[in-house]
Amino acid sequence: MGEKIHDITFIPGDGIGPEVTEAARRVLEATGVRFKWALAHAGDRAQDRHGTPLPDYVLESIRANRVALKGPITTPIGSGFRSVNVALRKLLDLYACLRPCKRYPGAPSRYENVDLVIVRENTEDLYRGIEFQDGTPDTAKLLSLIAETRGETLGPNTGFSLKVISEAGTRRIVSFAFEYARAQGRKKVTAVHKANILKFSDGLFLSVAREVARGYTDIEFEDVIVDTLCMRLVRNPEQFDVLVLPNLYGDFVSELCAGLIGGLGVAPGANIGDECAVFEPTHGSAPKYAGLNKVNPIAMILSGMLMLRYLGEVEAADLVERAVAEVMAEGKWVTYDLKPHRDDATAVGTSQVADAVIEKMNRLRRKANA
Ligand code: NAD
Repeated sequence: MGEKIHDITFIPGDGIGPEVTEAARRVLEATGVRFKWALAHAGDRAQDRHGTPLPDYVLESIRANRVALKGPITTPIGSGFRSVNVALRKLLDLYACLRPCKRYPGAPSRYENVDLVIVRENTEDLYRGIEFQDGTPDTAKLLSLIAETRGETLGPNTGFSLKVISEAGTRRIVSFAFEYARAQGRKKVTAVHKANILKFSDGLFLSVAREVARGYTDIEFEDVIVDTLCMRLVRNPEQFDVLVLPNLYGDFVSELCAGLIGGLGVAPGANIGDECAVFEPTHGSAPKYAGLNKVNPIAMILSGMLMLRYLGEVEAADLVERAVAEVMAEGKWVTYDLKPHRDDATAVGTSQVADAVIEKMNRLRRKANA
């Protein structure tokens, strides 16, 4: 392990966040890599203390450290933010959401060899948040513009959410997907769209994706319509390698793919920009399980494994991944969601899974040194 000390912003988050982030932090510490954690609160706790769920000091800490490990944050109702998570990605320009979906033996799944990576665009599309509420003066202007330019008369009580796709935004996410594929030795990139219907948003996404693909002749490229993708994923997910998608399809397909590999409890993620990166699982704050030491920390631990890779700590990342894979394959020290039945009395808690992963890492290290 390198001698470097990595400064990391540590955001426990809401609901089950504090439990899973603490489990991941303990595993990362046990690799021997050295970290200096800068604790930063976003979400409910920040709202109580600072009157906002996303205080400036959190953003400043991430900008300074360039890397954060983050638990899920509940979407507040009635605050200035639609979602703290979306705001964080937008404010830090974390334009690429990376979600590897790999099935480890032992995970409850119908499929054996799923090993695909979702690259979801993180800043545009319907998530841009440009909306027009029904009955407002701005919406009336938009209705007039549509009537004038398209000859379409829509009812007065109509609301709009704009799907925003830009040439520049598409170019950088598709380039990211190809660069990632090349760096990881992956063979194929599949661009996902609905360009047959959405000609000026997904149509632009598709034409830019095709153009970018021409610069990567070493990697196979295909495009697929999003509904066909869903059918093909359910029938035979092993055929896919790297998927690149606009934001909203990326959201749905991420959860679908989490289901292919054993559920949200094992699906890690990262939000990456040119300046910084935030590592967090696909799942949310699951409030009903908060404080129960019950949920699976593996998605969060594997998000930490992705962080190690991003930091260049490849040996430690491999160690964590192997240890997690062995714990899952044994199926003994795992939470309820990885047991054959959800009410299995032998299921262990969140912190016990972290203990088991650490124990496995220690054993693997002893074996390597023997
Ligand atoms: P959720 O992912 O929090 O939970 C849905 C269900 O998935 C849970 O009830 C549980 O059965 C299962 N699950 C989730 N994580 C698990 C784990 N680690 N181990 C085992 N099972 C697990 O989704 P939700 O209930 O729709 O959202 C709750 C809150 O989280 C909302 O406020 C939502 O906006 C927020 N959210 C935040 C993020 C994020 O921080 N990036 C992502 C998604 C949702």
